[in-house]
Amino acid sequence: MSKEDPPFSAERRNFLKTMAMGSAAGILGFAGSRADAAPYEAPAYAKAMPPVKIRSVKAIPTAPSYSNLIVVKVETTEPGLYGLGCATFTQRAFPVVTAIEKYMNEFCVGRDADNIEDMWQAFYVSSYWRNGPVLNNALSGLDEALWDIKGKRANMPVYQLLGGKCRFAVPVYAHASGRSIEEVVDNVRKYMDEGFKYIRIQLGGYGGVGGAAAIPDFRKAGFGAESDHYMDEYAYLSNVPKLFEAVRKACGDQIELLHDIHERNQPIDVINMCRQLEQYRPFFIEDPLSPENTHWWKQLRESTTVPFAMGELFNNINEFVEPMVNHYFDFIRIHISQIGGITPAMKVARLGEWFNVRTAWHGPGDVSPVGHAANAHIDLAVWNFGIQEGGYFFTDKEKEVFPGCPECRDGYLYIKEAPGLGIDINEKEAAKYPINNKAPGWTVRKSDGTIIRP
Ligand code: MG
Repeated sequence: MSKEDPPFSAERRNFLKTMAMGSAAGILGFAGSRADAAPYEAPAYAKAMPPVKIRSVKAIPTAPSYSNLIVVKVETTEPGLYGLGCATFTQRAFPVVTAIEKYMNEFCVGRDADNIEDMWQAFYVSSYWRNGPVLNNALSGLDEALWDIKGKRANMPVYQLLGGKCRFAVPVYAHASGRSIEEVVDNVRKYMDEGFKYIRIQLGGYGGVGGAAAIPDFRKAGFGAESDHYMDEYAYLSNVPKLFEAVRKACGDQIELLHDIHERNQPIDVINMCRQLEQYRPFFIEDPLSPENTHWWKQLRESTTVPFAMGELFNNINEFVEPMVNHYFDFIRIHISQIGGITPAMKVARLGEWFNVRTAWHGPGDVSPVGHAANAHIDLAVWNFGIQEGGYFFTDKEKEVFPGCPECRDGYLYIKEAPGLGIDINEKEAAKYPINNKAPGWTVRKSDGTIIRP
């Protein structure tokens, strides 16, 4: 109030009071007329859903093909209402089953199935020590199952709950590998004929271990185990540029090419190889650094212009923050069950949108069909989708165990359009294929026997 304004007079106070009463009277008048009408009844869409509690949480281990798969089933107090989630840590499947059945079930029974974020946070800290792959996978099974339940309750596919579709289907990349460059080229052509527009190329064994024609010294010396793999690092480093050159020459510029270094090389060797690959315009180069070498990020990024995908071995979404805000990589590479499910994956995906980092979820055969469905629901809903690994065709056995498997057609993955994740499990069929301890080993050695870290 300025000095010139008159002080509140009795007239002015009365005027304001009258105005206020008038407004209130208007409101009361409206409310009064409503009191005479029939009681307000919310339309069906506006009614809150009655609460649903968790009745049980169990693990369903199964290996219908070569991989151990773990699926979590969450049953609720509403008859017939349950959810499924992927908890597949194929190399250590039994401890995940124990975590679910001996800890998670008791923790969850009687809790509200609706509060997904709260359930995630509560279980995450309930062991105090956290971030390990066993508990993260168990947590993913719970998280995805709760999203499945929420979708069923809402009568909507999960992608609708995440914001709806940004694309009609999910573009996927296929894996073309071979023992020779010619074999890889043939496989690239085959996938192109099937409609794939993105193809990962690898020479040698899984992840590309280079030419390994010679018998390594460690094997002659009887060092290590019979099943250990050999990697000739320098054969690998010189073969990959030759492979890119041959595929570009034979298959043209229209196809997008990807490659996975699988974290196995020295960072300085990776830099030198990636410089050679720039001329072949790779879509991305995956996992250039092991988790122990992430302090090389800045130097790697400043040394080459190839796009990078990273994160497959990360345990915790917080590991993405620093490289993302510093623009160290271009694609988020996450095994979704490894970091705890849809809830944390959506957080990383949304963070990526602010830094022009796109998604590229891990999607090989050691992700269950339930996990592939979860990947695809996020892929459909996030704007900054990049590509999905999964030129993968489910076997007949897998389709029998998992009715509603996503389908791959013309280089796209299609989910079953149904409430929730759109996929089910036939427990009788699943029980026919018990899990085992025969998961492929990851021991790769140099010729002198030194272990190479993936
Ligand atoms: Mg990889």
